[in-house]
Amino acid sequence: MTLSLNITPLEKWLPVSTLPVVIAGPCSAESEEQIMETAFGIARIPQVKIFRAGIWKPRTRPGAFEGVGTKGLKWLQQVREQTGLLVTVEVANPRHVQEALDHGINILWIGARTVVNPFAIQEIGEAIGNTDIPIMIKNPLNPDLKTWMGAIERLNRMGFAKLIAVHRGFSFFNRSEYRNAPMWEIPIELKRMYPNLPIFVDPSHICGNRELIPGTMQKALDLEMNGLMIETHINPLKALTDKNQQVTPAQLEEFLSKLILRRESGNNEFSHKLEELRSEIDKLDEELIDILGRRMKVVEEIGHFKKANKITILQLKRWRQLTQDRIETGIKMGLSREFILKLLESVHEEGIQRQINVMNRDES
Ligand code: PEP
Ligand code: MN
Repeated sequence: MTLSLNITPLEKWLPVSTLPVVIAGPCSAESEEQIMETAFGIARIPQVKIFRAGIWKPRTRPGAFEGVGTKGLKWLQQVREQTGLLVTVEVANPRHVQEALDHGINILWIGARTVVNPFAIQEIGEAIGNTDIPIMIKNPLNPDLKTWMGAIERLNRMGFAKLIAVHRGFSFFNRSEYRNAPMWEIPIELKRMYPNLPIFVDPSHICGNRELIPGTMQKALDLEMNGLMIETHINPLKALTDKNQQVTPAQLEEFLSKLILRRESGNNEFSHKLEELRSEIDKLDEELIDILGRRMKVVEEIGHFKKANKITILQLKRWRQLTQDRIETGIKMGLSREFILKLLESVHEEGIQRQINVMNRDES
């Protein structure tokens, strides 16, 4: 099923000749020098057309740097006037919208913590009023496609047609190398639902560290996403927010130069479906490994317990019962007896080894 949105195509309102559109700039505006130096560094990179900076920072816990507020909007006006870049800020309430509009900000974005709340979206839309300023809508923190779609549809019904969805990854209960799990199947499904809605990708918040960013940028292009938002700071190590994931303008330029722009596959349906399935496998493998790790920790705990009570490691009766029980469960799940046995033997072997290590460890 595809749903229709009334979307103004990117090329009608953005001065871009080639995709992807690149947005760069610091996580937060910190000082006039930091903003201007970063902006001049970025303005030299031909692919970058838009400068971002957080002015009001939604922090998970109070007490951290919460943004410079209104005075930062003046620095962004200077960026626009002196570099020709378009400027964008995050807005989370009607006051932010009013101030951003008063300072001639070109594009607004709604952050992951705000998108979850339909009241907030409604109020932001009402505050924007009749201006047809472009709005970027990040995905909500939780992997919930409907909430993301809801915010997009709500703004579209209020008359906003210059819309862009921004994929910034999702909170995920398992540990992962990413700060926010990419779960590519969700933006892919969004693209399938709304084929004319541009989707940008924010590798900085997906990755949480600089090293993973180039691979995620390439992945975004390979999945035919339309733009990238990369947090860029003149001195990332000194950044007041998100310092592990920000890159220098020179690094950004290098990452962009290495991107491979493939031609469209011509068979989107196939590649998207494959990607969706692979993404599902990645998630399941991650859970599987996490569970195995947790299981081994419990095995070691049992080892300590046996050691304290001078009980032998191998308890054959228990092992036989356990094997029988797991084979029955496995067969109900459509797995073969041979496969379950092989798996259990391997898990058991590792468990025994862990317990032997516990027994031999000198804990005096
Ligand atoms: C940001 O872009 O700086 C930001 C706060 O992002 P998100 O809302 O995606 O966490
Ligand atoms: Mn950030």
